[in-house]
Amino acid sequence: MTGQSLDVAAADGRVWACPSCDGEREFVQPPCIDGHTDDGGECPEWACADCGTAVSTAAPLAAAALPVRHAA
Ligand SMILES: [Zn+2]
Ligand SMILES: [Zn+2]
Repeated sequence: MTGQSLDVAAADGRVWACPSCDGEREFVQPPCIDGHTDDGGECPEWACADCGTAVSTAAPLAAAALPVRHAA
């Protein structure tokens, strides 16, 4: 533990579409308790600041990576 506070995590929030809020919400990263950051990596777990729904970065990133096509 290095004294990292919730305030630090909240300052690094990101905005994603929350499936529970049915709209864009700020997601914050709670202190990792699973050891993801032990080797300097990034914890994939985020939680909606509004409703608390937990998401993995894999889900929103996969959605964002989908090609947006316009009907021809
Ligand atoms: Zn983690
Ligand atoms: Zn939400």
